[in-house]
Order: sequence, then structure tokens, then C-alpha cells
Amino acid sequence: MGIWSAPVSYISTRGAAPRLGFEDVLLAGLARDGGLYVAEAWPVLPGDVKAGLAGLGYADLTARVLEPFAGPTLGPAVLGDLTRAAYAPFHHAAVAPLGQIDRNLWLLELFHGPTLAFKDYALQLLGGLFDHVLAKRGERLTIVGATSGDTGSAAIEAVRGRDNIDIFMLHPHGRVSDVQRRQMTTVDAANVFNIAIDGTFDDCQDIVKALFGDLAFRDRVHLSAVNSINFARIAGQIAYYAAAATALGGSDGRPVTFAVPTGNFGNVFAAYVARAMGLPVGRLIVGSNANDILDRFFKSGAMETRAVVPTLSPSMDIQISSNFERLLFDLLGRDGQALTRVMADFRATGAFAVTADQHDRATALFASHRLDDAGTLAEIARVHAETGRLIDPHTAVAVAAGRALGNSADGPADGPVVALATAHPAKFPDAVAKATGVHPKLPPWLADLHERPERATPLPGDVAAVRSFILAHAALTRSVA
Ligand SMILES: *Cc1c(COP(=O)(O)O)cnc(C)c1O
Repeated sequence: MGIWSAPVSYISTRGAAPRLGFEDVLLAGLARDGGLYVAEAWPVLPGDVKAGLAGLGYADLTARVLEPFAGPTLGPAVLGDLTRAAYAPFHHAAVAPLGQIDRNLWLLELFHGPTLAFKDYALQLLGGLFDHVLAKRGERLTIVGATSGDTGSAAIEAVRGRDNIDIFMLHPHGRVSDVQRRQMTTVDAANVFNIAIDGTFDDCQDIVKALFGDLAFRDRVHLSAVNSINFARIAGQIAYYAAAATALGGSDGRPVTFAVPTGNFGNVFAAYVARAMGLPVGRLIVGSNANDILDRFFKSGAMETRAVVPTLSPSMDIQISSNFERLLFDLLGRDGQALTRVMADFRATGAFAVTADQHDRATALFASHRLDDAGTLAEIARVHAETGRLIDPHTAVAVAAGRALGNSADGPADGPVVALATAHPAKFPDAVAKATGVHPKLPPWLADLHERPERATPLPGDVAAVRSFILAHAALTRSVA
């Protein structure tokens, strides 16, 4: 038995969904009132647990950090088995190694998983958690998602070949990069269905939203999501902040500043939780590309949507950062009704503002930095010239943000700054080659990606077509469809 005998409960940010335990939050994803689940109170790690992290390998460290969230329900032994199974296939012994690139600037490499992006770190664990809980309950799930890039392949890799899960992943036909599409369509597993939609990413997302809104369908196929609104994904990301902060913060617990290339606010929110748990995490620097809604918010206190523009860092080409709702819930004093009103306003007008006091509390924890495509290419070139390393465009946004704010008057006085390397350079070869003249290579175990056969079903951008395809192919319904 671990030290956490009382399980953490989870509540919805909108205040009108049932309070749930870890397993139900895992399976539910989005709360039924449209809100996002957060812990009723963030668990604080005792000093001896924090001190003990220093001697642990990545998988064991993850189990230790996640124990208050999942341990009392699953049991610490099962949790340890699941984290070891999740990280064993990663392609680096340290799983999430740190490398120094400047006097006070480190890179946290989060691209050693099967799809070469940081989303593997949470999703590989999520796949195992799903399988374990479903098997225990004798249940099945159907996962449906829309992707413009990294999420789809990471989700498919996380659940491929699992007994109790089918996955249907929609991507906009002809609008996903070659590497990203092939990482999805070359997976040969009976429970994986790639759907190439005749339309844009927004069309794909609208179809997925409509399917989730159809409660009869949702219940019939046990619909679930693996996007970053699922709290278990946030939980799975806390571990690498804990690992890096433990390694660099040292025994005196100096706070470590993290610079995070941000889209949906899921990654950086995990750092916020790590800090709330008492880990030595200092200021959090949100990096934006030209889609700078978050940078504008942290500078002004007003959230205002604008049209999305395509950039060199497409996984951050986002207009509304869904996980920001979790931070906003805390800024509003955890008042679910107030939050529901703000979100309704935002939906109706495309804007909302927080009070000066709420803005001050946000900027006490978070700083932000914006980098356009020209700056991104310049940062990739600079890191290559100074260190010989190739970094991807998302990583470049983080590195520039870390340099700009890590040691400025607006940032921390001193202490290590860690920029998150969220993707392998070979995922975005064109930008890297343009900046450096060097064409980044896929790792050897993926070198034949462009020769592998692809499988995808083309469908019109139409909810009814997708719904019937799922009913005909999901194991839960196909025998009776
Ligand atoms: C998803 C993604 C991001 C953005 O992460 P969020 O959790 O959505 O803020 C950044 N970089 C890469 C490479 C990604 O795949």
C-alpha cells in the first residue's frame, strides 16, 4: 500500500457534472457538462517522496509521481507495471534526457517515443491504462479523433493491437504532411481505422464534435477521446517536469524555469500541476508562434480569437486552447458557474477578459513570448551553428522563449531554464533544411517509413457517412449493424 490511501477525486470545471474517481475520468475524457476534469485538490508530494525521485529511472519516477492520482485506485504495483510497459519501447535509455545548449539553457528531449513527438509520453501510458481498466471491467471503448498532425499518430501508436479498443482517426485528405500521414496510415492493426476526410481539419473536428454531441451514438459505441482534454494525459506529462526539475533543481530545490511551445495549453498545464504538487518548478514561459492568442492574453488579460494562420510549427496553429479552461477555473476561484458564463461569452463573442487581480495572479506564474516564422528559422540556424544540433520548429519557439525571458527582469533572477524539445527535427524536415542546409534523417527504426504500405478509407466530410462507417466497423456494433 502506498502513502496515498485516500484517492483524489475529480471535479468538472463547469461544476455541473458528477465528481468522479481516476478510472471514470480516464474513460470519460470530457465531462458531461462540457467541462474539463481537474483534481478536487492538487496532491502535495511529501519531502521524502520528492527527495527519493532523484534515484529513480524514468518509469519508476512516473509511477511515484502519479501515485496520488491513480495509485489508490489501481494499486501502486499495477501502476509501476503500466509505466514500465509504457516507456520500455522508447528509443533512449533515459527516456527524457536533458542536454545543455547554452550557459544556463537546457533542452528536455521529448522525441524518443514511437512517433517522435512529446505526445507519446502521455499517450503510451494512456493506452495501457485504458486497456487495464477496460479489461478489469469487461468493457470496450471506441476512440474517435480528428488530427492535423502529431496527435493522431501518437494516439494510434498508443492503442494499436489492444484488445478492448477500436480507434477511428480522421485527417483532412491531402492536408497532412507526408511523415505525419504515413505515421498513421502505415500502422497495420485490426483495431486501427484511418479516415481521410474530403475537407479541412476544421471539418474533421466538427464531425468529431457532432458525434460526441449525439448522446445515443456516444453511449452505443462507448465513445471516448484521447485529446489533451483527458486529465490522464495531463497526468502523464507531469513526470518529465518532475524528472527535469529534480535533476537540475538539485537537493536545494532551486526552482527550474520551463519554456514550453504551446498550442492547446495541455503540456504547460502539466507543469502548472507539477508546481502545485510542490516540485521545484519556477516560472512557466508560454511560447507562441504567429497564432499568438495566449501571448496576447498574458500581456493584456484579454483573450481574443483571430483567424488561424499556417506557420512552420503547425501543432501550435490553434485559435482556442482548450486546456486553458483548467487554469481559468483556478483564476476564477474554482467557481464553475462563473466559468460557465465566461465560456458562453467567449463562444458568443470570441472574447473575454479577466480582472486586473486575476491577470496579476496569472502573470506571477506565467510569462509568454511570440516568435514568427522568420524568428523560428533564425533560432534553428543559431542552435545548429552554436551546438551542431538540429531542432524542430516547435522546439525553436521554446528555445527562443527561454532565451528571451529566462534571465530577463521579467523572468526569474537565476536558476536553470529548460526548453522543451517537443518533436524530432525529422518530423519537420523542410523547415530544418531551409534554416540549416542540413536535411534531418529519420531514426534508423523508421527509415523505411516511405516504403511501407498505407491504409486509409476516404469519406466525404459528412457526419452521417462517418457515423455509419464507425457502426459498421467498431467491434461493439459491427455484428449487429
Ligand atoms: C501538440 C504539440 C505542441 C503543443 O502542445 P499543447 O499541449 O497542445 O500545448 C507543441 N509541439 C509539438 C511538436 C506538438 O506535437
